[in-house]
Amino acid sequence: MITENLEQLRKELPANVRLLAVSKFQPIDRILEAYQAGQRLFGENRPQELAAKAVQLPQDIEWHFIGHLQTNKLKMVLPYAALVESVDSQHLLEAVDDWGKTHDKVIPVLLELHIGAEETKQGFYEEEVLDILFNADKYKFIRFCGLMGMASHTDDEEMVRADFIRISSYLDYLRDLFPELEDFKELSIGMSEDWRIAVGCGSTQVRIGSAIFGPRV
Ligand SMILES: *Cc1c(COP(=O)(O)O)cnc(C)c1O
Repeated sequence: MITENLEQLRKELPANVRLLAVSKFQPIDRILEAYQAGQRLFGENRPQELAAKAVQLPQDIEWHFIGHLQTNKLKMVLPYAALVESVDSQHLLEAVDDWGKTHDKVIPVLLELHIGAEETKQGFYEEEVLDILFNADKYKFIRFCGLMGMASHTDDEEMVRADFIRISSYLDYLRDLFPELEDFKELSIGMSEDWRIAVGCGSTQVRIGSAIFGPRV
């Protein structure tokens, strides 16, 4: 099933949208099945799980971290993640920058924008992102690569679309305002239930778990 699901998704996704296979809670053998089907980009949301999988699985996998990150867990994530998609506080950003300085490594990140209506309290407000980017020079060991967001959890497609349009427009606004941040162009929006809407709103990368691996048990 994993192979078929991946093939179907690849057929439907536009060529300019990357597919992040969200492999959280999936055992090694199921991830390997996706790998054998050609998938190289995977996402995890728990530090320990990412570190354990990254050392066991083939080294040409590109890992993204998509979960809440506490500053005492950086060493389990930053050596392995090619992109941290879920930076959601200034405190975390500063800690990641410090880690980068200590290890002489520039860390690519997305800033998570709070767009969903309700329960998801995670993410920055627009003004906070603005404030960070005005001071982008301060973070010598961070590469700002764009925005990540999660739409409201609802069956109302128009509400989901409104969330995605909001983040997509905000990315455009920021790119105009900060043309010197050349890498600030990625828009990580869209999950199993809403990726088609996200692609219609300018997603450059969708994060898909259950539509590849089946429901998480
Ligand atoms: C789990 C998760 C996903 C994937 O969710 P599915 O609905 O299984 O596709 C995407 N993004 C984040 C941040 C997640 O935690």
